[in-house]
Amino acid sequence: MGQPRHAYVHVPFCRHRCGYCDFTLVAGRDDLIDRYYAALGRELERVSPEPPATAGSPGLELDTLYLGGGTPSHLGPAGLRRLFGLLHERLHPVAGAEVTVEANPLDVTADFLAAAADCGVTRVSLGGQSLDAMTLRALDRDHAPDDVRRAAGLLLADGFSVSVDLMTAAPGQSLAAVEKDLDAVVGLGPQHVSVYCLTWEKGTSFESQRRKGLLQPAEESLERQMYETAIDRLGTGGYEHYEVSNFAKPGARCRHNEAYWDCRPWEAFGPGAARFDGRTRITNHRATTTWMNKVLVGDDFSGDVDAMTAEDAARERVVVGLRRRDGLDREAFMDASGFTLDALAGNAIASWTDRGLATDDGRRVRLTHAGLLVSDALWADILK
Ligand code: SF4
Repeated sequence: MGQPRHAYVHVPFCRHRCGYCDFTLVAGRDDLIDRYYAALGRELERVSPEPPATAGSPGLELDTLYLGGGTPSHLGPAGLRRLFGLLHERLHPVAGAEVTVEANPLDVTADFLAAAADCGVTRVSLGGQSLDAMTLRALDRDHAPDDVRRAAGLLLADGFSVSVDLMTAAPGQSLAAVEKDLDAVVGLGPQHVSVYCLTWEKGTSFESQRRKGLLQPAEESLERQMYETAIDRLGTGGYEHYEVSNFAKPGARCRHNEAYWDCRPWEAFGPGAARFDGRTRITNHRATTTWMNKVLVGDDFSGDVDAMTAEDAARERVVVGLRRRDGLDREAFMDASGFTLDALAGNAIASWTDRGLATDDGRRVRLTHAGLLVSDALWADILK
């Protein structure tokens, strides 16, 4: 499939761990940051030392580079410059590449923006989650609504493309509160919005409080109403709903995520980061300190290797394709996977269209609104 033109870098540091979060991260362990840079520098040596045809230095040419976490902005302006200094030894975003950094609104300062611009960052994904003080407290977040407004304003004024994350179904959150959040985020005018429903992951503080009866998840019917409201209000606000959780102004889809959903190969570095060569997905060890220690002594630092058969990979392509509003084009699917869509999913598609969960015009299959609402429950029909 050729060299990957997309790369993800995981930055596992946060100021504090939010009660619902089960991501790969360490909170309040800034003492590990120097060791992280050392380990990341070593891991980057995996990348071919051959210069690509159009670059003067060794490594990969990239169309997209995405720094996620954790909280990459927690590194601060000097830390961001140091990180990009390392990355640029092996990773070379081409002119016009999309370079995204995830940020906590509290970290967005004039110095941070200057560093981001100098490093070639084009897009900032803001972990806003809500513009309502009660919801932010319920989500155990460490920022206030005004921090989100201030950060989005600074970023947009400086010409960055901005994405704002919103969370629904927070403990105690009402439908009216979600409506207010949506109107507030539309008012801020970011180019992109991602809307996620709170999930109760094993091992999190929220999940243990739920088991003790201290926190109450939202009713499923309320969750659905919130999601439908998000689709409606963001649609009215000029955002195209282009994937289950993602909404963009025209021309502002996240190109990096589109590469994942197209099942193009991508590179990934850092603890818990998963890379994909079109068939095999290798996930680095999830524990930050174990990943660092193994990388630095030259041990195998992969935690999980998922070698898919051609058919497994094609089935996965069905799922990620149908999460997109564009759906799946039969001919393009055949060209990309070597399988006919109907051989893998014909029965499931027929059943979904009968139930109003999908449309099928003979060329392209798309989930309907109703299908999107229950999409997670549909994939068992495809993944064997
Ligand atoms: S800031 Fe984000 S990554 Fe960090 S603990 Fe909170 S939700 Fe998780």
